[in-house]
Order: sequence, then C-alpha cells, then structure tokens
Amino acid sequence: MHFSELPLDHRLTQTLERKGFEEATEIQAKGIAPALQHKDLIVSSKTGSGKTLAYLIPAIQRVLRTKALSKKDPRVLILAPTRELAKQVFSQLKSLTDGIGLKSALVLGGENFNDQVKALRKDPQFVVGTAGRIADHLKDRSLFLNGLELLILDEADRMLDLGFSEQLKAIDAAADHRKRQTLMYSATLDNAELHELTREMLNAPQRISLGAAG
Ligand code: ADP
Ligand code: MG
Repeated sequence: MHFSELPLDHRLTQTLERKGFEEATEIQAKGIAPALQHKDLIVSSKTGSGKTLAYLIPAIQRVLRTKALSKKDPRVLILAPTRELAKQVFSQLKSLTDGIGLKSALVLGGENFNDQVKALRKDPQFVVGTAGRIADHLKDRSLFLNGLELLILDEADRMLDLGFSEQLKAIDAAADHRKRQTLMYSATLDNAELHELTREMLNAPQRISLGAAG
C-alpha cells in the first residue's frame, strides 16, 4: 500500500513523500487505518518493522483534522521506555511536523525540570517523554492531561520491565478514558503484567500481531 492511498491531510501526504516514504510497511498497512478510526490497538511486530510511523501518522492526522478538546493540554502523549528511544521518536515526529507548524515538547528524566515546565507552557500539541518524568510533571501540576485525545505506549513491555507500572497508572488516571484513544506497542504480548495494563488502560482493543515479535 502506498501512503497516498490513505485518507490523509495533504500536508501529511506531501511531507511523507518529501521524506522519501512511499510504500507502507506491513504493520503500517494493517495498523494505520484502525488507528485513524480512533480504535484502541495493541500491536506487536518485530523491531525494525516501522511501528513509529504506524502511530505517528494517525497522531499527526488527528491533530491536523479534528477539533482539539483543549487549547492548553497536549492532544497526543507518546511514552517510550528510555531517554534514547524517546529522543528518536521526538526527532522523527519533528521531522514530520516542523514544516506543518505543529508544536512538540520532549520531557525526559535527567534533564532540567524548569526548562521542561517552560516548554510545556507553550502548549505543545504533542508531548514525547519517559513515564517517570511525565508523572513528575503531573504531580507538579505543570502538565494536565484532561484534554488528552491520544495516548501512545511505545515498547510497553520494556516500560513494565523497567518498573514504570505505577507511573503509567498515574498517567492513565490523569487522562480521561471516555475521551481518549490508546495505542499500545509491544514486542511480546504473553506477559501477565502487560495483560493487566491492557485491561486497565485500553478500551475493547483490537489486536494486531505480525509474525515472530522481537
Ligand atoms: P520499529 O519501531 O518497529 O522497531 P521503526 O519505526 O524504528 O521500527 O522503523 C525502522 C526503520 O524503518 C526506520 O529507520 C524508519 O525510518 C524506517 N521506515 C519505517 N517505515 C518506513 C517506510 N514505510 N518506508 C521506508 N522506511 C521506513
Ligand atoms: Mg520502535
């Protein structure tokens, strides 16, 4: 499937073309359409299969083409297990949205807290970060998730392995289930803690699983 076959805003289609993305990978071909329909998803496929674009495309489309629930709160929150991964996601998001005039903030542990408060005050539509520091900003009331429309958990199994379960629950509690869509990506699905997280955080999720995950 070519990206131009998807019902996307022309600014997004043009950006993908300009960045040299033409054919969707298998996980993108299977996962983007239901995400665009605001379904909750739990997706597993192997490393390198293109999961980042599989969620960034529906996230950007949503911000471009639907009305915001809140002008101040972020509309999309993307959580990654490590600083390195969050930085990579942020850089891919920026490369797709800078030309369209959308704002993003990167919120990582180990970085200056007040600089992040300032970045959050600029009301970015997208926040990318690690769960611990995001939970700290919720506690500090420098971040509110009442208007959150899309929560994305990238490498959810690794976040649990790293002990972020409590922080994920705090983030879940701060973002209203009735209004938000949740997309979860994981290498493995056969994990009791992950099942519990899925039950708590996702609403009637559709499962998309490709081949041997890893
Ligand atoms: P995963 O998260 O599944 O491990 P990534 O999202 O990190 O995979 O993507 C792996 C690599 O594939 C990245 O370098 C990305 O730019 C590239 N890629 C993703 N989708 C496409 C596509 N449709 N066409 C070409 N390259 C792609
Ligand atoms: Mg990935």
